[in-house]
Amino acid sequence: MGQASCAGRCVTATYVFDFSEGNKDQKDLLGGKGANLAEMTRLGLPVPPGFTITTEACRSYMATGTLPAELRVEVTMALRRLEDAVGRNLGDFHEPLLVSVRSGAKFSMPGMMDTILNVGLNDASVQGLAEFSQDARFAWDSYRRLIQMFGKTVLGIDGDVFAHALDTIKSERGATIDTDLSAKDLEELVEQFKVIVRDHSGRDFPQHPREQLDLAIAAIFESWNTDRARLYRRRERISDDLGTAVNVVSMVFGNLGPDSGTGVCFTRDPATGKVGDYGDYLPNAQGEDVVAGIRNTLSLADFEKLDPQSFADLRQAMRRLETHYRDLCDIEFTVERGKLWMLQTRVGKRTANAAFRIATQLVDEHLITMDEALERVTGQQLSNLMFPQFDAGASRTLLAKGMAASPGAAVGQIVFDSKTAQAWAAEGKDVILVRRETNPDDLGGMIAAVGVLTSRGGKTSHAAVVARGMGTTCVVGAEALEVDATAQTVHVGKRVLKQGEVIAIDGSTGEVFLGSVPVVPSPVVQYLEEGLDAALEHTTDEDTIVLVRAVDRILKHADEVRRLDVHANADTAEDAHRARIWGAQGIGLCRTEHMFLGDRRVLIERVVLAREDAERQAALDALLPLQRADFIDILREMDGLPTTIRLIDPPLHEFLPDLTALSVRVALATDRRERGEEKETQEEFDHDVQLLAAVERMHEANPMLGLRGVRLGLVVPGLFALQIRAIAEAHATRLKEGGHPRAEIMVPLAASVMELRLVRDEAEAILAEVAKAEGVELDIAIGAMIELPRAALTAGRMAGEAEFFSFGTNDLTQTTWGFSRDDVESAFFAEYTDLGVIAVSPFETIDRTGVGRLVRLAVEEGRAARPDLTIGVCGEHGGDPESVHFFDEVGLDYVSCSPFRVPIARLEAGRASVAKGGSDTR
Ligand code: ADP
Ligand code: MG
Ligand code: MG
Repeated sequence: MGQASCAGRCVTATYVFDFSEGNKDQKDLLGGKGANLAEMTRLGLPVPPGFTITTEACRSYMATGTLPAELRVEVTMALRRLEDAVGRNLGDFHEPLLVSVRSGAKFSMPGMMDTILNVGLNDASVQGLAEFSQDARFAWDSYRRLIQMFGKTVLGIDGDVFAHALDTIKSERGATIDTDLSAKDLEELVEQFKVIVRDHSGRDFPQHPREQLDLAIAAIFESWNTDRARLYRRRERISDDLGTAVNVVSMVFGNLGPDSGTGVCFTRDPATGKVGDYGDYLPNAQGEDVVAGIRNTLSLADFEKLDPQSFADLRQAMRRLETHYRDLCDIEFTVERGKLWMLQTRVGKRTANAAFRIATQLVDEHLITMDEALERVTGQQLSNLMFPQFDAGASRTLLAKGMAASPGAAVGQIVFDSKTAQAWAAEGKDVILVRRETNPDDLGGMIAAVGVLTSRGGKTSHAAVVARGMGTTCVVGAEALEVDATAQTVHVGKRVLKQGEVIAIDGSTGEVFLGSVPVVPSPVVQYLEEGLDAALEHTTDEDTIVLVRAVDRILKHADEVRRLDVHANADTAEDAHRARIWGAQGIGLCRTEHMFLGDRRVLIERVVLAREDAERQAALDALLPLQRADFIDILREMDGLPTTIRLIDPPLHEFLPDLTALSVRVALATDRRERGEEKETQEEFDHDVQLLAAVERMHEANPMLGLRGVRLGLVVPGLFALQIRAIAEAHATRLKEGGHPRAEIMVPLAASVMELRLVRDEAEAILAEVAKAEGVELDIAIGAMIELPRAALTAGRMAGEAEFFSFGTNDLTQTTWGFSRDDVESAFFAEYTDLGVIAVSPFETIDRTGVGRLVRLAVEEGRAARPDLTIGVCGEHGGDPESVHFFDEVGLDYVSCSPFRVPIARLEAGRASVAKGGSDTR
């Protein structure tokens, strides 16, 4: 860079690059803003000349505390080149060059220093500017803005002091808006501002343009490390080491009269994804005026009427950028006396809706391939589209906007504490828990509430983590809210809301609305449930139709390119039915526990309490037809697809009454008996006493690590045998019905190959017996759930006795980290996130380094021992976007997740394939 031609410079610079030297791929070095300014310059778009001071310089400044010496020289040289290019000198007395000094890190980052405009103005050059522009008012206004911005952001003076002085002079002159002030008024204001600077910072406003520039650069570097910036980075997982770049851009003026102005625009609608130009234009205004909302802005259509030539130029630039970036661009521009200048662009943020729509539009416009379209959307976005939504057509009053922490649309009455939330919810009311931030004491209220809203905290705050885990709608960090839990009020600007008032929160956008907003079912869910044609029949709304078609196209493409199969976790025939509709290619985990609850619980009690084998066998025999019927239903639903049935896993005491309650009951009954007042028969009493003895016997200090899973199967005679027989008979029945059952038996919680061998021996005997009795061939695979570190570490041996592996990543995470999910997640994960110990809950996204390493090892050693070993994952991680990419990477055959997440897993599995460069279909 820079060495090829010696026209401008002959030394290799490290700290400063002209816009003409960089490109969009240099965001690490030039920051996002700088890289894109360079790219636009390269494309020949009208960017005011300027240069970028690199993030490298910032890193050096952070390390040493001073601006590197070479930087001064390089800035001097860059400034000379800039002055030559525009033919004016910085802060010149006659035709001064002025510059803006703009921060710009790799990731756009609120919390850092604001941009300073008009650097280079001083007591002399302001005269030059007045002369040159023929507009004294404009010159003095620019100068007072510089002192104000500089005073506030560089010298750290409270902005209110300047604002107050401005208000005072306005009321003295009877001016209602800023533009009513005359040149003379503004000149006077400048004098006042200079006094403010001296009084508040103990120094004069620097008159020397270069000193202004250097101080501004250092201030931007400093702002990288403010508390706000650091906090933001911690929340967003951005490294503190990146540093920010600084862009020095020659000023262009949108406030030079009616043929000037400034605006922002998008090349497509970022909210809906509609094709067309979207934006706002404000005539006779400088940059920050548009966002400040001081006057009403014009639409681009009005801008076209006002200034057809500039609009035509803008449109052309928009088209150019869009075809170049091959994506939606977001643009800042300024018109100076009829000439268009481009001040910023970037690939624009968009809603989930727009993401799908734009991706398919770009395919149709031949700008991107279907593979690329797939990469432009995320499982998270698809999941946002699947929640019920606020009716976009309904009228609504926006109260505040926070961060979208957990998607969904919730309407409810405001409550300020957990107790009220629980009490009101118990009365059947929908409540939204509103807190500054939540802590573990709020858990009860969070469970009771339909939504959670906080004024503080980010996406990994306690409220966000817990709400996401529970699937409760949540908005956090709505800073406009002032929550006073003691007074039971929340202030939003001048409005005061009391407990019981109704609000609506949108966890997909972070919006908070006053009053209730009607909710409509997601058209994407209708599509997933009923198919494309039926979903399209539900609506005549063009936007909905386009969205549903876009989702359908992208999802189908994902299905075409993905290597991973997607199975569902489903325990009942109904769940299995839904899973299949949503695209599941099998059941990865069918839990059998619920089959022992309800009416069947007494049977299990008998199994546990039986004193003799015959008694136990009788209870088991009674369970057999019930289990068999369950399995027949499920195998019928899943006909032709693999159906992995896990043998009973939880500890038996879960099927028995609670120890404390039972102890009390027996104690009371004993007492009554002593007084001769017994209410229950002798038989009932004896049963309770026996039951209590059994519950006490089975009581465990740590049931999660106790007698459960395969251990239970090996210790309680006949239990696994019953289940295996039920599966075998159900399979046989389906075969005889002409079906294509594909039952598989999964052994839970094995840690040793011996456990597997024992179960397998028993199972094979039963399968052979049933096959013979029924006169069919039973091809039922037997495999292991890999959910203990020891199982993973001995995977080679385990594979000797298992035809398939399925990672139970929830238990594997618990046992690898040594903590239990229910006990720790809401208790201290928020603190752990703040401390930086964990980035996201390892229960949400697989911990690649730790748990992931065990998975990798087990895959390798398992396959080495048995090359045709089928391997999947059946923990909820199977539906988590990031984890899906990991499972694809380590070569699993399938992921399995709850039916609701199946479409998300399908999409992400597709994205994982194309990210690896796996497919190139159009
Ligand atoms: P942000 O990242 O907050 O948008 P910017 O650095 O883009 O900050 O600048 C703030 C405002 O000032 C924007 O409206 C921008 O268009 C405007 N601006 C920045 N540099 C210049 C310049 N050289 N001439 C005119 N306006 C500018
Ligand atoms: Mg900007
Ligand atoms: Mg488990």
